[in-house]
Parts: sequence; C-alpha cells; structure tokens
Amino acid sequence: MAADRCPAAHAEDPTPCDGGQVVRVVDQQGTGVSACIHHGARLYASLIRPRVYPLAGHDGAAIEVYNLARVLRPFPWVHENGYRGLI
Ligand SMILES: [Zn+2]
Repeated sequence: MAADRCPAAHAEDPTPCDGGQVVRVVDQQGTGVSACIHHGARLYASLIRPRVYPLAGHDGAAIEVYNLARVLRPFPWVHENGYRGLI
C-alpha cells in the first residue's frame, strides 16, 4: 500500500495521495522529500522550520502546500485515527 504513495506520506497516515509529486518539502537539517499537495501539507505542518519548493513545472504548488499546512495540526493523522496512546 505504502509503495504507491509519495515519499512524504507518513507510515501511520493511511490517506492516499491527491495527485502526483509536485513539491519538495525540506526539514531544518536539509533533508528533502518529494510530495503530493496533500502529504506535502501534512508533512510541512509536522516539521520544525520546514521549507517547501515547487518541482519543475508546478510553480503554484508550494504556495498551495503552505496555505493548507497553516490550518493543519502537526501529525494530523494521529487525531483523525482516534489515536488512544500516550500523548
Ligand atoms: Zn502523497
């Protein structure tokens, strides 16, 4: 299942990609992964000091990810899945 999702999809996040990989999300250590809009936003919302760049030919995608991430909580799948572990 995980194999056909973008590299930004978290293993515990069951949601599918919403399209092709159009951005690169980079963490504060400089490690980057390619992402669809959906998982790019969710990863961006979960990182400390992330950056997001559009991949070639997708100039508006980084702004779209940024705007979506602003209204997400970090690790949103934890809340959506009814996670009952220790927080
Ligand atoms: Zn994805």
